[in-house]
Amino acid sequence: MVQKLQNYVGGQWVSSTSDKMTTVINPATCGVLAEVPVGTREDVDAVANAAAEAFPEWRSTPILSRAQYMYRYKTLIENRFEDFVRVVVEENGKTRDEARGEVRRGIESIDFAIGLPNIAQGYKVEDISSGIDETAERQPMGVFAAITPFNFPMMVPLWFLPTAIVLGNTYILKPSPQTPLSAQLLYEVMDELDMPEGVVNLVHGGVDVSMAVMEHPKVVGVSFVGSSPVAKIVYETCAKHGKRVQAQGGAKNHIVVMPDADMGVSVKNIMGSAYGCAGQRCLAGSVVVAVGDAYEPLRDELVKQASALRVGYGLEETTQMGSVISHAARERIEKMITEGVAEGANPVLDGRNKSVEGFADGSFVGPTILDGVTADMSVARDEIFGPVLSIMKADSFDEAVDILNSSRYGNSASLFTNSGKYARDFKYRVDAGNIGINIGVAAATASFPFGGKKDSFFGDLHGQGPDALEFFTDRKIVIERWF
Ligand code: NAD
Repeated sequence: MVQKLQNYVGGQWVSSTSDKMTTVINPATCGVLAEVPVGTREDVDAVANAAAEAFPEWRSTPILSRAQYMYRYKTLIENRFEDFVRVVVEENGKTRDEARGEVRRGIESIDFAIGLPNIAQGYKVEDISSGIDETAERQPMGVFAAITPFNFPMMVPLWFLPTAIVLGNTYILKPSPQTPLSAQLLYEVMDELDMPEGVVNLVHGGVDVSMAVMEHPKVVGVSFVGSSPVAKIVYETCAKHGKRVQAQGGAKNHIVVMPDADMGVSVKNIMGSAYGCAGQRCLAGSVVVAVGDAYEPLRDELVKQASALRVGYGLEETTQMGSVISHAARERIEKMITEGVAEGANPVLDGRNKSVEGFADGSFVGPTILDGVTADMSVARDEIFGPVLSIMKADSFDEAVDILNSSRYGNSASLFTNSGKYARDFKYRVDAGNIGINIGVAAATASFPFGGKKDSFFGDLHGQGPDALEFFTDRKIVIERWF
């Protein structure tokens, strides 16, 4: 019997009001893992009402007690660490070690939330006028929601939920229908905490359910992570319905390598950046811009090491690169490689038509390197979200910076160099929200906001860190005089 997933509404597991389901597929084995409801507006009503009802009591629960729930949550997740790893691998296709990294990063976001009582203050000025005091009181706002992507199904929900609820809000999660099992496990563990009913809720579904969440009058704010076209829709829809919104979008991340860079360090980090999680990371390095003499040795070494990567099922410890999320993703990625080749790119390593022994139906794409890429090609401009690395040549640092800044995305950019001067210029001039200097994946830790600019982010306050504290609270100004 295939498991049929349910929503979590007001502390109870409840079936969707519609019995229409889609299947959750293990992308490496093609086996069916579960069925997930398509969902309805009534389902969204149910979670929004439960969350709204729970809000008054939850906001008056002391912040230290709210944080203690997350302290216990962290412990329960640690106790089941490898269960989370397995679920992430099975539904997403990444390797065990990548899933371990994801679960660890998710726990770090809980750590941040546990510490919030230390920093969640308002502020006050005495005698703003004679005998009158003025205070900015920080208050929770009500029901927040997250709409999350397939690629970090355990970590991304934890970027938002723990912080939002420790600050006194109540919550709705709508995970990706491609990877809803990590969310399911997150809520199964949450259920063991015996939190007041309705503080945390889970609703499954796709586009219609997302729209219903964004349009619901009881939802005050939405955090979104996913592709740029959808991020823009989310930003506009939330604005139209008077909600707070932070919408993190897609990416096209460049890595510049200067001739003075340590070649061994550069290659190792580019490999991790381009092929980690089979390139399905919003921080994945997708275009290498090699400056001057760095070009040839860099390309040759990348081809050598990428050719040797062992592609396979993520649950096997020997696998170095897992599958992509679905057959549809494999087809899209292969089509984009084909278009790049038609536009003149040279496939020095071609991962199309990859087959893995024992997993004939799996959604695998082999590591791919396209050489001789120029800025006008689609593979240089568009997000591929697969294990495809384009290599471009620039004659100078300035030319490389111009290439980066011509991208419509601005998620992250990295520089490999031994020059402090180039490093400073890069940080100063490059228009991307996360910058790596001799770092391949510039992933903000939980106490810093996750950067993102241009088409990679729509909103003002980013996810994580001090921005999250501002996003999930409002300030009420109180001016008082007593006789
Ligand atoms: P996606 O945009 O297809 O889906 C994300 C979420 O939005 C899912 O829950 C989905 O059900 C929902 N959704 C899809 N279409 C919708 C629509 N038209 N209206 C409303 N909701 C909709 O993204 P994905 O394929 O799941 O994830 C991959 C994308 O996410 C990549 O572009 C990647 O770069 C991006 N991403 C960005 C970050 C970041 O921090 N900037 C992090 C992770 C992933």
